[in-house]
Amino acid sequence: MSKRASVKMVAETANAKKPKHWSRGLVESINDPETIVKKTNNIVVINDKYPKAKIHYLVLPEDNINSIYKLNSSHVRLLEEFGKLYEEIKAEHKDHNLRAGFHAVPSMQRLHMHIISTDMISPCLKTKIHWNSFTTKFFLPYQDVLEELKENGTIKKITNEQHKSLMSSPLKCNQCDHISKNMPQLKEHLISHVK
Ligand code: AMP
Ligand code: ZN
Repeated sequence: MSKRASVKMVAETANAKKPKHWSRGLVESINDPETIVKKTNNIVVINDKYPKAKIHYLVLPEDNINSIYKLNSSHVRLLEEFGKLYEEIKAEHKDHNLRAGFHAVPSMQRLHMHIISTDMISPCLKTKIHWNSFTTKFFLPYQDVLEELKENGTIKKITNEQHKSLMSSPLKCNQCDHISKNMPQLKEHLISHVK
């Protein structure tokens, strides 16, 4: 083996052993055939690995766009395609009430849109942060993000104070006016909405 080839092999082995950061999990999942639900030329829909409701998908671009805050006017078409996939998925789940949107402060890398059913019944829904991230203004509805991008060519970030205040909002039911004292009580209450 040439010296150059052996240096390359050593580098590749070192890279393979390097632990991948958890926040890159979605980038790996979009290449995992077991996780992929739908695929177009430039968009992948995957199952959320820790679903927070009966239906929970993530829609991601193949392009390396990190978040909604990296979007500009040139991405309007891409976001409209997200919408087409959302419509397709809604048509496939007529028995569920679905919502689509983005977390104002995402934890995972690569732009991703949540498509999630309003039942919010799932063993993975455990914390107040989980709940408030989908049921308060922390969840930016797809249509609002698309409109903001069309109008301003950019998406405005929320402040740290807004973030803190949204996360500490009371545990208000997303289907009625009930406010629960804690997560076990809320989870029990959600069952009462199942027809
Ligand atoms: P967020 O970044 O807060 O908008 O949400 C990230 C979402 O990714 C959460 O709903 C997680 O349950 C989900 N998730 C975390 N890791 C993975 C993974 N490796 N594959 C698929 N979904 C994931
Ligand atoms: Zn309720």
